[in-house]
Amino acid sequence: MTYRGRFAPSPTGPLHFGSLVTALGSWLCTRHAGGQWLVRVEDIDPPREVAGSAEQILSMLAACGLQADKEPLFQSRRIDAYDAAFERLRDTGNLFPCWCSRRVLEASGGIHRDGHCLVAADAQRPPAWRLRVPDIEVNFPDAQQGVQRENLRLSVGDFVIRRAEGFYSYQLACVVDDAFQGITEVVRGTDLLDSTARQIWLQRCLGLPTPRYRHLPLVLDEQGRKLSKSTRALPLDATDPLPALRRALAFLQQPLPPLAHDVENLLAAALERFSPALLSHCSGHCTD
Ligand code: GLU
Repeated sequence: MTYRGRFAPSPTGPLHFGSLVTALGSWLCTRHAGGQWLVRVEDIDPPREVAGSAEQILSMLAACGLQADKEPLFQSRRIDAYDAAFERLRDTGNLFPCWCSRRVLEASGGIHRDGHCLVAADAQRPPAWRLRVPDIEVNFPDAQQGVQRENLRLSVGDFVIRRAEGFYSYQLACVVDDAFQGITEVVRGTDLLDSTARQIWLQRCLGLPTPRYRHLPLVLDEQGRKLSKSTRALPLDATDPLPALRRALAFLQQPLPPLAHDVENLLAAALERFSPALLSHCSGHCTD
């Protein structure tokens, strides 16, 4: 099977240093394995999106020399595929409509575990649709974090596949598109480690293959907090991407190549020296 990796940003702001680390980590793993690298724009949550950021992210990736092997896939154009997966799950009895409010679920810590809605159906209001989650443990080996075990019923319960407003969940869209794009290895941040068991369960319900996973540590700021749009996102400089790329290589514990004048030379030299084994020394802290 051809190795296929991907980077799947949500257009909720410009590419920051933490996302560059994920993109570069995934790109290096893929190119090292002689595989194809794809980009997917996860634009299916309009309330969270920032206008123009998909274009900004794509042009920053290009400025950083991280070229995908195909045109980017936009999730906003894939609704028919999510509709088909939704119908399949509903037809096989895996889904139930749910009108439970947060208030109703407060008693169970916000977790829905009953496999059916706890309140009366309300014809005036569209329901959310949840996946019925059985009492089983999902195990998977993570290339970075070791073997993971999660009992989905205990950790998340019956989870939402389509929100009441009609938007499909990240979990469903991600699983449908990883399969559609033929992804064999997912490299992403540890903030998504706890989505993986849900995604594997959905792959089983839909009869889709499970890729291998590697969850890289998140970049933390000086106070040990996640670098994200909500805290201190470092905007990248598209006119001078070399310093950020070198810092990302250092974060990924890779040997630093000699100073290069352009991104192509830097990436080629980084790829020559790249060692997946060194990734396991990543600690989450920047070393410079
Ligand atoms: N779109 C997600 C994010 O930006 C990442 C999805 C993934 O890599 O599976 O956090």
